[in-house]
Amino acid sequence: MTQHAPLVGVYPGTFDPITHGHTDIIHRATKVVDRMVVGVAENAGKSPLFSVQERVELVRREMESLDTNGADVEVHAFDNLLIHFVQEVGARVILRGLRAVSDFEYEFQMACMNTRMDPSVETVFLTASERQQFLSARFVKEIAALDGDISSFVSPNVAQAVLDRFQATTARESFAGRTARD
Ligand code: ADP
Repeated sequence: MTQHAPLVGVYPGTFDPITHGHTDIIHRATKVVDRMVVGVAENAGKSPLFSVQERVELVRREMESLDTNGADVEVHAFDNLLIHFVQEVGARVILRGLRAVSDFEYEFQMACMNTRMDPSVETVFLTASERQQFLSARFVKEIAALDGDISSFVSPNVAQAVLDRFQATTARESFAGRTARD
């Protein structure tokens, strides 16, 4: 039987903060890859609620209790081009979660651009679970900013971190978006 090199995957995202949608993808993706690197993008341009180091810590904390199917999972921040980060960690696969049609166009473009830059790297999509189909980190922040209950979308640790952040700062205003209020 042919021995294959361990398959390393990168799951990139902003994770501001990590939700049950993200952990579901990580749990399912680790059935396929041998080693998974969760890449937390700095994304300063998106004005995240949490610093990149805080987001890394929140993701690491989730990994302590997540069933990762025996695969090694590492969590690292990155602020360079995704394809360069993928090459640096020696991965051959980029993993992405795909929610309803709204994700499709952007994801499709990104996958094509990344293939152009490095044809040896494949992008693999996992469809969002039925229960997490409409869950996004942005909605979690908008709901929390308006004092809504986010306990079914994120872990208790993440919910507490979001609550603390909104109590400690004026960030609440910028996340109390119209979508959740209307
Ligand atoms: P968000 O869009 O929630 O801000 P990220 O930018 O951190 O999330 O996304 C990282 C990856 O996780 C993307 O591929 C995104 O499509 C995927 N993802 C986010 N939320 C979900 C979910 N509820 N179910 C499946 N995949 C998801």
